[in-house]
Parts: sequence; structure tokens; C-alpha cells
Amino acid sequence: MRTLVWLFALAACGSPRPGGAPAGGDAARSDGAGGAGDAAPQGTYVFDPAVTKVVVEIDYETGEAPYTGTVVGFGDTFDLTVNNLDRLFASKKALTVPRTLAAMEDVGVISDEELTTTDILALAAAHRQQHDTADTKTYYVIFVSGHYADANGPNSQVLGVEVGMTGIVAIFKDVIKTTEGGAVPNISRYVEQSTLTHELAHGIGLVDNGVPMVADHKDAPHGAHCTNSHCIMYWANEGTSGAVSFATQNITGGNTILFDAACLADVDAKN
Ligand SMILES: [Zn+2]
Ligand SMILES: [Zn+2]
Repeated sequence: MRTLVWLFALAACGSPRPGGAPAGGDAARSDGAGGAGDAAPQGTYVFDPAVTKVVVEIDYETGEAPYTGTVVGFGDTFDLTVNNLDRLFASKKALTVPRTLAAMEDVGVISDEELTTTDILALAAAHRQQHDTADTKTYYVIFVSGHYADANGPNSQVLGVEVGMTGIVAIFKDVIKTTEGGAVPNISRYVEQSTLTHELAHGIGLVDNGVPMVADHKDAPHGAHCTNSHCIMYWANEGTSGAVSFATQNITGGNTILFDAACLADVDAKN
């Protein structure tokens, strides 16, 4: 059963290209498997030296809001994402990431429970308020109920997706909630933050998704992912089983930066 679950996670994990019909549920997925240089990120390039500000906009469906606030033994929930984004930019860009629901927007009920990349792009088109300028790169995140759906149908294991190189991210809150429980407190809170970090990192350009690799560490059969299972950009961390084991390993280990040296070398070559 585990193999089946992981195959499902593989099927839809990653950053499918916008508007394109996925070619199938396997390595034919188009999120960078074609190699570097076959596509460019949309909008302003975040590592352009003229870009001094990075803004993350977060919306949520009614009842599907992200976890926020300070938790004993955890700190502020959004520290994990903010610290990791700040590291990707070597603290050289001014980051704006909302940490409270008051700084995010409730966009109402979204009746569609099987969201394709086209559906996610339509939600962004309807609700996105921040857009790139010459000195500001923006990313858009929406937390929704239901599941990601591709040519294989809805996938109950996919925690989040970034729609290839658009900087548009969907996080599937129902799937996040399924990771709660077990021996580790706050694990779904951690998984939500690590998923957010993973998807935003796809938007920023990892792995070989707009930021060239310094050394080869791309898990090409799984698209724009890292070969290191201890790195947040490992493909399985986008699915529930992988994310829970990653979270368990990192919560107990007390790590705060979730990227490995290979991923950090890629961004640092651009910083
Ligand atoms: Zn991924
Ligand atoms: Zn990595």
C-alpha cells in the first residue's frame, strides 16, 4: 500500500506547467523534466539585482485558513517559512509574508473540490491583488479544501502544488489536516509550513526550475526536485507520508533551515 501511496504522490507532485494538460501521471510530467533552459519563470525574475522586495500574498477559502500564531515549543507558526525564504535570498531582500489571518484574505467558499492547474490559475486571477513590479517580486498562495486533480483524477495525498513557474501556489488544507496525530505535537502545523516553503521554493526556481544548478542534484524522474531525501525539495515531501517523516525528523532534530547545501549553493550563486 505504501508503494501505491508514494506513486500517487509522485503522480501529481511538483510544479505542473500552467494551462497545459498533464501528460500523464508519471515522469512525463512537465515540471522541468525537460531540463534547464526550456522555460523561464513568469514575471519579474526574483534574483534580478533590481528586485529588493519579495511579497507573499496569502488567501484562504472560508474554513481552510492556515495555522497562525505562537505555539509553546514551536514559536510563531510562520517563522519556518519566513526564515527559509530569507535564507534563499541570503537576507538580501525585504520580505513581506503575512503571519496573521488579519493580514490574509478569506475569499469565501470555493465549491470545486477537485482543483486542476487551470482551476488554480482561475482562482489566482479572481483573487490576486499583488503583482510584480521592477523592484518587487510577488508570490500568490491560496489555501483550499478538496484535492489536487490532474489527468489521473483527484489525488488525496498531494499537500500542495506550484503551478509551473507562475509563483502561484495552492495548499490543500484537508490533506494537511490528515497529517495530525501521532506522537509528535503540532505536526500538521509543521507540515503546512514545510509544504509552503517547498512550493514557494519551486516558484523561486528550485530545483533547476528557473535557477540553474551549480552541481547536478536534480531528481529528474521526479521533476524539479532534489536528490537528497533530507532536503525539503525532495519529491516525497510534497506527499503526506514523506512530509510526516521529514517533519518528525526535523522537529526532533531542531533544524530550522530545511534546504540542503546543494539547493543553497544554487540560490547563493544568484544572490
Ligand atoms: Zn515539489
Ligand atoms: Zn536540495
